[in-house]
Amino acid sequence: MTTQDKYPPMAPVRLSAGDPDQGPLATGAATLVLGGEPVAFELTVPAGPVAVEDVLPIFQGLSSLLAARAAAKATAAGRSVSCQAGCGACCRQLVPIAPAEARALARVVDAMPEPRQSEVRARFDAAVATVSATDLFEGMTEPDVRRINAGRDYFKLGVPCPFLVDEACSIHPDRPLSCREYLVISSPDHCRALSAEGIEKLVLEGDPSLAVLKSDLRDGWLPLIHALVFDQSAPPSPRDRTGPEILADVLGRL
Ligand code: SF4
Repeated sequence: MTTQDKYPPMAPVRLSAGDPDQGPLATGAATLVLGGEPVAFELTVPAGPVAVEDVLPIFQGLSSLLAARAAAKATAAGRSVSCQAGCGACCRQLVPIAPAEARALARVVDAMPEPRQSEVRARFDAAVATVSATDLFEGMTEPDVRRINAGRDYFKLGVPCPFLVDEACSIHPDRPLSCREYLVISSPDHCRALSAEGIEKLVLEGDPSLAVLKSDLRDGWLPLIHALVFDQSAPPSPRDRTGPEILADVLGRL
């Protein structure tokens, strides 16, 4: 089987971020090698200096694309992805997000109508209070090591994600990169267990969540439940790179 046989011929994948009413946009072509296959992209981002969160829709689209490709490969290999709407088994895990994602999630909450917005804010407050009663997050700034060490302890607390409603994600189009990239082919029972043993995660052809995190390490990573606290307390996001510069930096870290 040739590489061309694995996937149907693809038109350039078009991803965009930015609002032309807010400033000029820049569009360019890029080719990413995904799983050994060159994939053409047409990418549109704000042309001027912006914050990482202003380019985030590009990385969200890329995460979703990589997840879809991994799921398709699993299906072709006779395995099926267990993740589906109504299964929130993984949504009590520690979800590491970049500062830019915290800003974006805060804007999602800001845009919610009442009484939903107040309900979600109350769930954030309850989650932070539960975890604050422990010393779980002390000194956590290194995503690769510490999120794994703390993850099991966090999971034992049973704190549901504030966006989890009826065991489904209530912000599915806006969910964090880590959530998009978490796909399992093992039984959901393993995700509900207190141990990661038995969980078979799909390996994606890139890791946009970690790439964005490394490109946006001004404040270290943070757990999703701290998104609103961060947004209210941290200084404004730096706007010291243009959209194309942020894009190139993140794509170079995939
Ligand atoms: S954002 Fe959505 S998918 Fe991610 S942990 Fe929360 S409820 Fe689950």
